[in-house]
Amino acid sequence: MTSPRSARPAREAFLPFSPPSIGEAEIQAVVDALRSGWITTGPRTALFERRFAEFVGAEDAVGLNSCTAGLQTALALSGIGPGDAVVTTPMTFAGTANVIEHVGAKPIFADVSPDTLNLDPACVHRAIESARAHGDRVRAILPVHYAGHPCDLEALDAVAAEHDLVVIEDAAHALPARYQGRMIGGGVPGDPLAPRNRVLTSFSFYANKNLTTGEGGMLTGPADVLERARVYRNHGLDRDASQRGGAHASWRYAVHAPGYKFNMTDVAAAMGLAQLDKLPAFHARRQATAARYTAAFADCGAVETPTERAGVKHAWHLYPLRLHLDQLTIDRDRFIDELAARQIGTSVHFIPVHLHPWYRDEHGLRVGDFPAAERAFERLISLPIHPALTDDDVADVIAAVRAVAEAFAR
Ligand SMILES: *Cc1c(COP(=O)(O)O)cnc(C)c1O
Repeated sequence: MTSPRSARPAREAFLPFSPPSIGEAEIQAVVDALRSGWITTGPRTALFERRFAEFVGAEDAVGLNSCTAGLQTALALSGIGPGDAVVTTPMTFAGTANVIEHVGAKPIFADVSPDTLNLDPACVHRAIESARAHGDRVRAILPVHYAGHPCDLEALDAVAAEHDLVVIEDAAHALPARYQGRMIGGGVPGDPLAPRNRVLTSFSFYANKNLTTGEGGMLTGPADVLERARVYRNHGLDRDASQRGGAHASWRYAVHAPGYKFNMTDVAAAMGLAQLDKLPAFHARRQATAARYTAAFADCGAVETPTERAGVKHAWHLYPLRLHLDQLTIDRDRFIDELAARQIGTSVHFIPVHLHPWYRDEHGLRVGDFPAAERAFERLISLPIHPALTDDDVADVIAAVRAVAEAFAR
């Protein structure tokens, strides 16, 4: 069934798609936080924020309990609400679009570029023109750096400037990623590489992300905006819990806005600090695995490997392979089952958001509306790329993909 090239002894244990990489440092850091007596937002959150802002080169960073919370806060701080519309990508997790609904605005989808599966700036431009013609007040673009490959920010910035829009980045996959030399999340006003006004970037520390705190997120951007985010994340109170303890503790507080409950805990921040130390090594490992996959599949006609455009550095959160279905006798779903039968866990990123029942029905969207996203979806398989993969694990994944491709070649 397999050619000698791909013959390897069968794996005994199932290879999970994306387990968290937690070590003794994280465990000890969490224990220390628990023993410190301060378990919610406090000194560890403040330190993690400072170190994170430094790492990406941002003016400031605010710790939250998810990336989704960061996106919702960014929309609210930008004054986006009922009557407004926000352009985003269908090639994302539903949370990206859900937050637009949460603030009462209307999500407008635009198709993606076939190479990166990131928002296609020309499609964004057309979506804005068409939305305006229908009377929608478009206020923002919400791009996702899909798989960790930075979007074409220069072109998106130009579209945003032309239509006077804010840009709010979903950087759930993009840690650490670079665009034209600067880190994603490091955009500040006045930066010649980021000519945007008010760019806010939201990162995810969910269990399977490149840096995890179990659940968590970080919003980066200009200090004056993020000062308001600190109020929003904690019920709209004028001070954090971190400032309410101590010798001169006061019971008095004032509510300045009907804020959210989005704050990061110090237990999570303790994990985040330990993970941040390991991030460069984690990323190097992801890059090496991506390079091995891409080299190994170069002569495999049944699959297409992900691209990395000039001028960017990929975060390699995902390694999305695309099948050439015309060269196979099976579809993507069956390909995944065959990999699972060979003990390899995979996933699919993403079911295009406009095809989910709520978005389809509520916004009158249909199959065929975003052909590049839909064509990609039919063919996508995300291979394991987490940093704990051993060289043997990577060889097993390569052998399994080649074996399935050969066994079901048309
Ligand atoms: C994981 C993910 C999110 C949500 O992150 P949370 O921290 O779980 O809120 C948002 N967008 C994308 C693209 C994601 O992959």
